[in-house]
Amino acid sequence: MPEPSPRSKVALLRANLASRWAVPAEILAQMPALDQPAHREAAIETPSLDRAVADLTAYLTTPTWFDLAAKQDGLLQGLRTRPVAYFCAEFGLADWLPIFSGGLGVLAGDVLKEASDLGVPMVGIGLLYRHGFFTQRLDAAGNQREDYPTVHPEVLPLEAVPDAQGNPLTVSIPMGTDEVGARAWRLAVGRLSLYLLDTDLAGNQPDQRVITANLYGGDRERRIQQEIVLGIGGVRLLHALGIDPGVYSMNEGHAAFLGLELLAQTLNGKPFEEALADVRGRIAYTNHTVLPAGNEVFSRDLVRRYLAPAFERRGIDQDRLLSLGGTGDFSMTELAFRLAGKANAVSRPHAEVMRQRWPDFTVEPVTNGVHAPTWVGPRVRALLDREAPGWSGEECREAAFARVPPAELWKAHRDQHATLMRLVTAVAPQALFDPDALTMVWARRFAQYKRAGLLASDVDRLRTILRDPDRPVQLIIAGKAHPADEAGKAMMRDLLATIGAAGLSDRVAFIPDYRLEVAATLTAGADLWINTPRKPLEASGTSGMKAGDNGALLLTVLDGWASEVEWHGIGWTLAGEDDGEDAARLYDHLEREIVPTFFRRDSDGTPGDWAERMRRTLALTLSRYSTRRMLHEYLDEIYLPLIRTARA
Ligand SMILES: *Cc1c(COP(=O)(O)O)cnc(C)c1O
Repeated sequence: MPEPSPRSKVALLRANLASRWAVPAEILAQMPALDQPAHREAAIETPSLDRAVADLTAYLTTPTWFDLAAKQDGLLQGLRTRPVAYFCAEFGLADWLPIFSGGLGVLAGDVLKEASDLGVPMVGIGLLYRHGFFTQRLDAAGNQREDYPTVHPEVLPLEAVPDAQGNPLTVSIPMGTDEVGARAWRLAVGRLSLYLLDTDLAGNQPDQRVITANLYGGDRERRIQQEIVLGIGGVRLLHALGIDPGVYSMNEGHAAFLGLELLAQTLNGKPFEEALADVRGRIAYTNHTVLPAGNEVFSRDLVRRYLAPAFERRGIDQDRLLSLGGTGDFSMTELAFRLAGKANAVSRPHAEVMRQRWPDFTVEPVTNGVHAPTWVGPRVRALLDREAPGWSGEECREAAFARVPPAELWKAHRDQHATLMRLVTAVAPQALFDPDALTMVWARRFAQYKRAGLLASDVDRLRTILRDPDRPVQLIIAGKAHPADEAGKAMMRDLLATIGAAGLSDRVAFIPDYRLEVAATLTAGADLWINTPRKPLEASGTSGMKAGDNGALLLTVLDGWASEVEWHGIGWTLAGEDDGEDAARLYDHLEREIVPTFFRRDSDGTPGDWAERMRRTLALTLSRYSTRRMLHEYLDEIYLPLIRTARA
């Protein structure tokens, strides 16, 4: 057999997103250029390409945790024939597939990668937005400018899913009195498949073709159309593929119409309560925020128009349909609660808030995590491979990190910090950053509750901290505001204006277009990760986990996952209740402890106390806040109990 061409090897790697975590960094560095069709033949050095292909093949053929565990467990074994279907409106897997806006999507992407690593049978269902989430620029006045990329599935490593005749597989979806067709694209995520529904089909009306055009764009009508495609279309697609899921996991209420479709299928002459109980035995619901974005409502009229005709025909009359969404506007959260046999929040405090807000329903917490092999930077990774082998594996306990020498962690992290400095030089050249300074990062959505402004609320105090000639400190800010969030955009503009007016533009850098690659560089290189939400609005937060995995120390409000941790001797905390009080404490922490600890050096130049805190932070986040721990909890506390109850 002839040796495959470099191009076909690259295609193999790219066609399998396992490459994002199972392939050496130098290959990854050469891969973005391959997104442009013109550069597809770009030369990649053959030996490293061959190694990457060998690594990927090894990854895909090595027995997994699931292979072993399922031998002894009939319930687990059952997932092989009836997998978990994981529905989400966004998936953040790679910047070249911009079908995500932020935390929810990145989490969904991390979950798929972890399921692949563990070998858990799972299939992802999402939407292919032809115009992805925007890329961000700032104009001279500090206003956010948005450019919408066009996603061309034909030139990306997405496979058009064929039907038995080899034509594009399409499913038909009831939409009011109409039917809409959707096709599907398949993306290989390691061992798993993610299917993305797309209504841009020649057979659809022009206004139907654009249903899946934009992520979170358009009006309420467009949103209900998208959610019908995701929920109802997703169930129908799985059926067309011959997949009969044991569990439908609704990752946020956007996908809750899937339960209506299952209910209609199940009814078939059965009493309603019996069919409902049956459906609840197959559905899990995860709520990701208490904010309106994740707890949508539609007017009853819209629901009536879009859903009643088809469901009435199938045995769910209008009153019953509407009552599933509550008594006021039709609530996707209430629909999800009523259709799911299990519902969970994403941290312990978030579960508390959910219980207060929806006292009629039962919520348990499963705290979020991050996919450590994605987020641990190359230098820290090499150190962990040597000093804490198994750091991303089954036996990854806090004690596994006891032997990591703090001084070496410091050195490894300094190299990653140098990479971050190069990013700043490249994209924010007016910032004159010092490789030896303490680098603080605030990077997250510019939503009001995240309170970016807290950092510069006392600009004189900030200036004194940043301008100390002996102990220099610098600040990186990154994040997007939702295009429709004028308050968030104003917060960004005001913060940057305040910093400019204070003459601090050389010590504060704004990195535009916060996305996966930027987030990876920021979390790998930051010394201090700052998290300032107003309590109790941060359901979990995950960026601090990514930074912690690399040895960044945290200065955080005690909300979401951070409130589950005893931070004494590790990081620094804020109450998250009063802006003035939090700002004062933030500066106090910096002046009294954070800056002095960072600059207190041992004879070899290592900040000993700081480096020991780095080791403890990394031990904490890697052992407790990984998607590995999280997915095991989903299996043990949500998915398998559902299946067990349904069987009984
Ligand atoms: C991790 C991540 C987020 C979510 O982080 P939060 O802590 O919830 O703000 C958002 N966007 C990107 C690009 C990320 O990598």
